Amino acid sequence: MKVGIIGAGQLGRMMALAGYPLGLEFEMLDPNPRACGGQVAPLTVAAFDDREALAALASRVDLVTFEFENVPVAAMEFLAGQVEVFPRPPVLETAQDRLREKECFRQLAIPTPDYRPVESRAELEAAVAELGLPAVLKTRRFGYDGKGQFILRQPGDLEPAWAALGGAPLILEAFVPFGREVSLVAARSRAGGMVFYPLAENIHRDGILRLSQACSADPMQALAEEYTRRVLEHFAYVGVMAFEFFQVADGLVANEIAPRVHNSGHWTIEGSETSQFANHLRAILGWPLGSPELLGQVAMLNFIGELPAVPALLGEPHLHVHAYGKSPAPGRKVGHATLCLPPAADLPGALRLLLPRVNLPALLD
Ligand code: AMP
Repeated sequence: MKVGIIGAGQLGRMMALAGYPLGLEFEMLDPNPRACGGQVAPLTVAAFDDREALAALASRVDLVTFEFENVPVAAMEFLAGQVEVFPRPPVLETAQDRLREKECFRQLAIPTPDYRPVESRAELEAAVAELGLPAVLKTRRFGYDGKGQFILRQPGDLEPAWAALGGAPLILEAFVPFGREVSLVAARSRAGGMVFYPLAENIHRDGILRLSQACSADPMQALAEEYTRRVLEHFAYVGVMAFEFFQVADGLVANEIAPRVHNSGHWTIEGSETSQFANHLRAILGWPLGSPELLGQVAMLNFIGELPAVPALLGEPHLHVHAYGKSPAPGRKVGHATLCLPPAADLPGALRLLLPRVNLPALLD
């Protein structure tokens, strides 16, 4: 079986690396000729909406998936006319637009921050008057890793935020005074079976995920699974999906879904019985899903901008290193490492010792 992957970043690369032991082959398509997935599978360099290139790819593979959620929906629908595409394209319409996404959560009775669509400066003033400050102004589309958003804390913050974002369709969200951020990675198979990984607790800096810690028997697990199940069933979803939440008191408030494998699930490669990448492939192929069981005490660190020296990382016990084969650049995710300790170990203590040694001293403060 040959799987086509739209997008050839590190997610596609790790998907292919998980699929080779299962006997699968891969081809990728990405506009960037240096996309790091191209180091592990044949890469077609083409725009995501290049129909000739998409049709050629479709003719060479058995099915197609994507690792990047901002692929044009029309292009994925075009592909779906030629070959099976999972997850099915309609979920992209919702996941690409923060307003539609929140409307979908409301329809499914999943709590969200209060929000208002904003198309003009006057609408921004009205929305701020209704929701109060602080609030978060975001572009409806194409935001990622904290890009395309501003926290508005005082009236003077409106003008610079509007100057930067105004013109694009926006959404104003009430600021959620969350206790922690968690995400749930889940897989749904073609036959409708589902598996849910343990919740991950996530720490962001400058809008970018820095640390994910897998939570054993978390009190929020059942609620997160219930909300995620509603979304998976609503879309008759096939593949891996991640759902990001804010925890407030003993409840969860939905932030966003990602219709793909997710950075907060990278710990599953060594830390669970079946990785999110393997389960995504099993799901889209109609193969049995694997157990998401947590194998110990597990935390993942992201390397942003540049990678510490790999040999030095390898000197750290129980640390599993993933370099993505990307050149360094500010804000770029260039690799990650997962610390996997036995169930009875002191993970917070081990992280406190490890973080300064990998140039991330302040992450837990
Ligand atoms: P997002 O791109 O929507 O995931 O936002 C990036 C990060 O900004 C989140 O992980 C939160 O740390 C923060 N954030 C986003 N929306 C809100 C909100 N409504 N209230 C509080 N913090 C938020």
